[in-house]
Amino acid sequence: MSEYTITYIKNEQPKEKPQSDQLSFGKYFTDHMFIQDYNPEKGWHNPRIVPYQPLVLDPAAIVFHYGQTVFEGLKAYRTKRDKIQLFRPDKNMERLNRSNDRMCIPEIDEEFAIDAIKHLVHIDQEWVPNAPGTSLYIRPFVISTEPYLGVSPSATYQFIVILSPVGAYYEEGINPVKIAVENQFVRAVKGGTGEAKTAGNYASSLKAQEQVADEGYAQVLWLDGVEKKYIEEVGSMNVFFKINGEIVTPALNGSILEGVTRNSVIELLKHWDITVNERKITMDELYDHYQKGELEEAFGSGTAAVISPVGELAWEGKKMHINNGETGEIAKKLYDTLTGIQYGEEKDPFNWIVKVKY
Ligand SMILES: *Cc1c(COP(=O)(O)O)cnc(C)c1O
Repeated sequence: MSEYTITYIKNEQPKEKPQSDQLSFGKYFTDHMFIQDYNPEKGWHNPRIVPYQPLVLDPAAIVFHYGQTVFEGLKAYRTKRDKIQLFRPDKNMERLNRSNDRMCIPEIDEEFAIDAIKHLVHIDQEWVPNAPGTSLYIRPFVISTEPYLGVSPSATYQFIVILSPVGAYYEEGINPVKIAVENQFVRAVKGGTGEAKTAGNYASSLKAQEQVADEGYAQVLWLDGVEKKYIEEVGSMNVFFKINGEIVTPALNGSILEGVTRNSVIELLKHWDITVNERKITMDELYDHYQKGELEEAFGSGTAAVISPVGELAWEGKKMHINNGETGEIAKKLYDTLTGIQYGEEKDPFNWIVKVKY
């Protein structure tokens, strides 16, 4: 399948690049994008890198009506020596295909997709920012393009990759956030699409997010969709707790999205001989540990923030203050190690780094 050649149309009107220290998240886009088409006769075909541009789609395209679409998120990092590198892109492409499978989207060639991403990042390499903590966010996604209002899988698709230079998530080191436990809305249920990175999951999470934002909370902590007892995720991050010196994270259960960062955190903790328990954990249990003084840290993990410590957790009118609202030792060490590997400042014992420009 990998004998595709990527055609390239250069953007002759490159944009002005934003200042490296004035980036936020997902606001600016680079000069080029990757596109590949799918139809039942040819399969995935016509891979091309073209000037960044709007798409022309039929208003009846399935993606607009029934949300048959998936996406990914990863980053390219510029090292101090001006090399550019990716972090575990194979994991993202594996997950893209798991999401594709769930959404009845034809599978993509993972190796070819990684090559395409490397190619695109190489072309737009000047867009990889160099200020500390900045990176080039990579957003691969697949949309269903067939014009058809019947509810069935699309016959045609586009696989697209766009790039966005993004700012440092934390301006001055990592900062704990306030989180509200969500008791009304749910993100996902077993048998649903929670395991897939698909648009609908995020559309349905907006309401909860909007409500707690009014009360000063950064994100919600999602509970299971059936009993609303078990902890699942925090915002669009996986979640970890340090209880009595051991780390606990909710076991993958069919409704939790399996993060590449989650997987990397677990591997690092095991490497450091710190016990990690992937198991079910309820809010009742967590609160019990908190009251006994055994809840030492809480943090989220995801590509955007890497590690996001939780300083306060609000639940049923009670407020839990974790580690005096400060970043815990494990969260700090994980953040430093992961970003150290990503920016090429630390050894990469697991071969997580994929080079783009050396
Ligand atoms: C993307 C995502 C994560 C984190 O995944 P990473 O691969 O670590 O970035 C966690 N939860 C949800 C719901 C997500 O969409």
